[in-house]
Amino acid sequence: MPDYEPQRIIVKPQGTLQVPDNPIVPFIEGDGIGPDIWAAAKSVLDAAVGFAYGDRRRIIWSEILAGEKAYRETNEWLPEETLQAIKDHVAAIKGPLTTPVGEGIRSVNVALRQRLDLYACVRPIRYISGVPSPMRHPERVKMVVFRENTEDVYAGIEWEAQTREAEAVIAFLKDSIGVDVAKDSAIGIKPMSQRASRRLVARAIQYALDHDLPSVTLVHKGNIMKYTEGAFMKWGYEVAREMFGDHIVVESDLGPEHDGKAPPGKVVIKDRIADMMFQQILLRPESYHVIATPNLNGDYLSDALAAQVGGLGMAPGANIGEGCAVFEATHGTAPKYAGTDRANPISLILSGVMMLEYLGWAEAASVIEEAVQRSISEGLVTHDLARRMPVARELRCSEFAQTVIERLST
Ligand code: NAP
Repeated sequence: MPDYEPQRIIVKPQGTLQVPDNPIVPFIEGDGIGPDIWAAAKSVLDAAVGFAYGDRRRIIWSEILAGEKAYRETNEWLPEETLQAIKDHVAAIKGPLTTPVGEGIRSVNVALRQRLDLYACVRPIRYISGVPSPMRHPERVKMVVFRENTEDVYAGIEWEAQTREAEAVIAFLKDSIGVDVAKDSAIGIKPMSQRASRRLVARAIQYALDHDLPSVTLVHKGNIMKYTEGAFMKWGYEVAREMFGDHIVVESDLGPEHDGKAPPGKVVIKDRIADMMFQQILLRPESYHVIATPNLNGDYLSDALAAQVGGLGMAPGANIGEGCAVFEATHGTAPKYAGTDRANPISLILSGVMMLEYLGWAEAASVIEEAVQRSISEGLVTHDLARRMPVARELRCSEFAQTVIERLST
């Protein structure tokens, strides 16, 4: 047997990763169905790495705590050691976590993203052939959503109606700015900064360039919220021109300058108002490739897109910052299936695929994608898909993982 000396992934000064053959990767098992889907995902990831690289590479998993398990063992929902371990090891993967009701912490997931400054929520959405979908042509949806993860109305700056804080803000608005707000209003604040908007859009454009994708669309509601959403769009175009000037072309310049067509090798930067975008993803999804958008729009859009490909609960996700990233299932803890071995592990398996791509282990990533595709094409799926497919054999979560492993091939 080879000697697997666990080693840390290192972020080099220019921002690229140095990934050893035996990287230590922290994992959070998750609550509810977390243990079932994590066991399934881990077995698939390990088998794919073995399949792709033999004895040369292996992930050394290291458990870290968050959510209910952390609360039981440490009395904290999100221990400091967990945050430190993710920072130290650069990439981590997690199952879903329960949002405590009536406890001190608003959401463990939101806290994790904010404390680690994981500013880009990245959700690739595309159709897996054979998955039941409400659309006639779900295969036309092939988009990657970059959702800003740290600001907007999700920043958690809000006060209940008729509290001292809400009344103080209402009084301030009246006395200092001359703005009238009804006295019995609850108040929420929507911060949107130049820095956070620019770095999100820059990451989305870089992704489009790295993956040869034709366009990046800035989705905003700037026609109404001019100084927040409108500024997001303005800063987006600014960063596109300043950082990527030679590699992009703005849609409005396409007409006279380029005969209506994007020059080869250039990414088209365009923008759409959010409500119109919901029509576009239904009517002309093939015109959109990468979406960059503030937090709330991104939350709605990514779930709507996931539903279009029939895969609500199957879509993978990643939360990415400058120095580290957390890959996660996008659905919740589905408590009614906890411990039943019936949940669908595909979201977490495909989040693991995103993690392998992030590490540069593309061969292992692609064999998993193909094996998941094969299992679905053969109608071998968990109950959530089986109940919507005309011909299918219902598998347990662990059986599905085994089925995928048996279908790993080049
Ligand atoms: P949910 O856990 O996503 O489950 C809602 C329903 O979706 C389930 O009852 C089930 O539908 C289906 N489902 C979701 N994942 C599935 C899977 N892997 N396999 C099969 N079916 C699946 O949403 P929720 O009930 O609103 O939330 C439960 C808890 O999860 C809450 O505490 C919430 O805050 C938390 N949550 C965490 C995250 C996260 O960690 N990122 C995200 C969302 C929610 P059927 O009943 O139709 O079978």
